[in-house]
Amino acid sequence: MNHCCSQRNRTGQLICPECGHTYPVVDRKTLLHQITFPQNLDLGDEDYAFCAGKDCSAGYFSESRQIPKTSLRAFQPGCDEMLCYCFDISVSTYRTALSEGTAKLIREFVIQNTKKDLCVCMTRNPSGRCCLADFKRMEHDHDH
Ligand SMILES: [Zn+2]
Repeated sequence: MNHCCSQRNRTGQLICPECGHTYPVVDRKTLLHQITFPQNLDLGDEDYAFCAGKDCSAGYFSESRQIPKTSLRAFQPGCDEMLCYCFDISVSTYRTALSEGTAKLIREFVIQNTKKDLCVCMTRNPSGRCCLADFKRMEHDHDH
């Protein structure tokens, strides 16, 4: 896949022009807080989706524009690969915790604070979504 622009599928999700995977449209607030200046000045009124593909260079993409991961705050040089952006828990931290048997403590902390509505996924997480599903995925990968 290497179209210059994205396309929509039947459910209104956007198809990443780089890797061909399909992603939901993100909130405008997510875009504005994730994209570094000055690219955040020039987004137009289009809908954008976030490509979560680790090996894909596309960050956000609309039907006519593409913003690379290198222009997003979460992917600046020196940034760890994050699991929970709200509470600063990296993938490697959680992997270590899973091996050492301390993962439950971390997960409970995140769940508790998410329940109290103290998380800020919409602005901190480039996907704009809650990370709890990613915790489950890592736990599953660790157990199998
Ligand atoms: Zn992609």
